[in-house]
Parts: sequence; C-alpha cells; structure tokens
Amino acid sequence: MLSVSKAVFHALAASKGMKSLASKYGLRTERSFARRFVAGESVADAIAAARRIEATGMSQTLDFLGESVATMAEADRATRAYLVTLNEIAAAGIGRNISLKLTQLGLTVDRATCVDNLRRILDGATAHEFFVRIDMEDSRYTQVTFDIFETLWQQGYRNAGVVVQSYLRRSLDDVRRMNALGARVRLVKGAYREPRRIAYPSKGEVDAAFIDIMRVLMAEGHHPAIATHDPAMLDATRAFARERNISADRYEFQMLYGVRRDLQTQLAAQGYGMRIYIPFGSEWYPYFMRRLGERPANVGFVVRSLLRERAAPAV
Ligand SMILES: Cc1cc2nc3c(=O)[nH]c(=O)nc-3n(C[C@H](O)[C@H](O)[C@H](O)COP(=O)(O)OP(=O)(O)OC[C@H]3O[C@@H](n4cnc5c(N)ncnc54)[C@H](O)[C@@H]3O)c2cc1C
Repeated sequence: MLSVSKAVFHALAASKGMKSLASKYGLRTERSFARRFVAGESVADAIAAARRIEATGMSQTLDFLGESVATMAEADRATRAYLVTLNEIAAAGIGRNISLKLTQLGLTVDRATCVDNLRRILDGATAHEFFVRIDMEDSRYTQVTFDIFETLWQQGYRNAGVVVQSYLRRSLDDVRRMNALGARVRLVKGAYREPRRIAYPSKGEVDAAFIDIMRVLMAEGHHPAIATHDPAMLDATRAFARERNISADRYEFQMLYGVRRDLQTQLAAQGYGMRIYIPFGSEWYPYFMRRLGERPANVGFVVRSLLRERAAPAV
C-alpha cells in the first residue's frame, strides 16, 4: 500500500500539468494548501515561520527548496541564494542551521562544480557559525553524497552533517563509518521509491532497521538527530535513552514543518530537543508531493483547499 501510494505520487510529482496547476494556487494566500508544509516563497516567510517555532521553545533548520537542477547556471543561482539566506538568517538573529541537497548545487550536471558550490556555502556557514545538513536524496546519489561529505570532512569542514535512511540495507555500515569519523547524523526512514534489492520493502523491516540504527547512533554517535513522526520510533528512542542514561541534551528529535504539530509541542514541553525542518522557496512541488505520498489522507485536505482556492478571487 505504502509503495503503491509512493509510486502514484512520484508519477504525479513528474507531471508538468499538475505542477503548474499546483504552483498557481499552492502558496497564493496564507490559507493555501501548500502552506501547511511549506513556509512560503521568500526568506522573509521562512524567517517568520522560524520565529514562530522558536517562540514555542523549539529550534529549526531552514531548507531553501530545490533539487535536480539541470544547468551550472541554476546550480550557481541556488548557491548564491543560499549565501544570501545565510546572511539574512544571521541578521535576523534566529538559530543558524540550514539543510540543502547536492542535486540543487549541480551534482547531476558536474560533480566538481557541485563540490565547489558546497565549499562556498560551507565557507559562508563557517564565517557565521552555521551548521549545514546535507539531505540524502534517492539511491543514485547515496554513495557520491557520502564521498563528497567525507572528502570535505577530511579537508577540515566540520560544520556539516549527513542523513542516513533506514530503508536502505547499507545504512548500518554507513552509520558506523560516520560515527567513527565523528560526524553528526540525522536518521530518517527514507522518502524515495527504491528497489527491494537495495531497500527494505515493508514498513516492519524499515522500522526494525530504524530502531537498530537509532541504538548505534544514540550509543556511539555525535549529537544524533532522530527525525521521525512515528510514535513507536519516538518511544523506542526515549526508552533506549532512559536505559542507557543518555541525557536529552546529547541528541535531538526532528520533525517536518506542519507534520504532527501535536507531537512536536508535546515532546518540546517534556524537555526534549525538537528541531523543525522548515522548507521555503518557489520550487516546493516535489517536496510537497513526497509529503502527500507519505500519507494519502493528506490529499483530502489538498483537494478541499484547491476547490476553495479556485472559487476565490485572485489576490
Ligand atoms: C527533519 C526531517 C528531515 C528529513 N530529511 C530527509 C532526507 O534528507 N532524506 C529522506 O529521504 N527523507 C527525509 N525525511 C523524510 C523521511 O524519510 C520520511 O519520509 C518521513 O519523515 C515520514 O516518515 P516517519 O518516520 O514520520 O514515519 P511514517 O511511518 O511514514 O509515519 C508515521 C506517522 O507520522 C505521521 N506522518 C508521517 N508523514 C506524514 C505526512 N507527510 N503528513 C502527515 N502525517 C505524517 C503519520 O501520523 C504517520 O502515521 C526527513 C524527515 C524529517 C522529519
């Protein structure tokens, strides 16, 4: 069921017609449907959302949306947009933490240029004491993402971390390598559609792997981020922390903007570190479609809002 709905949404994500229809209405007003998951198009929108999150005692990471750029010029534009974003975040006085994707920096166009772009961002980030999380994309990019990260780590860039996906069969090995390096890891289940040769096909196996990796990260990792909305994964993490006397300041939970806001505030109120991943920018469509694919019930609210939008006068 999960993989069927993922397949449908990945197909829709590639549809140009759907994209242009959604892009027209998705963020048009404060109540437009994509606003549930995306803070807005501008850095100012993202900073406003970050302030609201921080006012409730949680922290945040900002993601300037974009992926799979097709030209060096686009990769350069995304890189410069990130550099501007770093300055604006620093000037706003909010927490200094960003997330980015390597295909946004030109990984599929030219690897060396992508590495240069990442280095430009890491240099800017170092100057302002930012932490940079390199999101993990689909399995075509897993190895190269680790390779680039490890190369830059060896060159002394320590203000960055990676993401490990529990649905990939290789992930426990990756986590052990990252722990040995001293790198910070965010653990997620994984959001893409992957073949069973390399990924666990069932939720049960993905969850079991998540718990195995969580234990290794919590016991031997470096301020790991356990990123999930799944109450069973959250309970398992808290139980393991209690069992091993791991205090709440040695790890953090992370959740996506607009997803399980009830759990976000509940855990933060109980004293757990909770970081919210806040995406913004005009290239929100693929991100948004992955969120729908994770929970088909979300489609109902999108359809209702879309009907409302089309009935409303343009602003
Ligand atoms: C901070 C953060 C960063 C991430 N970064 C990456 C990354 O770099 N690479 C990557 O592949 N994936 C990333 N993901 C996505 C992740 O891989 C999963 O696809 C996503 O988190 C859903 O999995 P889950 O652990 O919440 O568990 P699931 O078993 O999918 O869901 C558990 C419960 O959470 C709730 N829920 C989950 N998703 C939604 C949704 N979209 N809308 C409403 N409710 C929902 C539902 O109540 C559901 O029953 C990230 C997730 C987070 C939280």
